[in-house]
Amino acid sequence: MHAFPSRLGAALRGRCPSCGGASVFSGFLDLHPACPACGADFRDADSGDGPAFFVMFLVAILVTPPVILVQVWLEPPAWVQMLIWAPVVLGLSVAFLRPFKSTLFALQWRYRAEEARWDDRGQGS
Ligand SMILES: [Zn+2]
Repeated sequence: MHAFPSRLGAALRGRCPSCGGASVFSGFLDLHPACPACGADFRDADSGDGPAFFVMFLVAILVTPPVILVQVWLEPPAWVQMLIWAPVVLGLSVAFLRPFKSTLFALQWRYRAEEARWDDRGQGS
């Protein structure tokens, strides 16, 4: 197993959380069912909407202050603001999605996180 920084680095680069030898992605955001290098099973880990949630908040935090500053200092029309910031928001979101997805996936895979389930005997426990 890798030490923490290299494991985090592998996750940020979209590499296998077990061996770091192959990409976890089979498409832009689709994951392989198993690691092509070491065969680690990826079927149980599913990050769902988690990456999009974190990317949405990070991009909002990064983009909102400059939008406000440009509006206060330059007072451009709304269409100019849209023209400037829509590509920035889109570009940052696309750029952050893969690293966030692979990192959340690696954390789920590592700690075997899964959805909560009701106990079959009812009433939860
Ligand atoms: Zn692997």
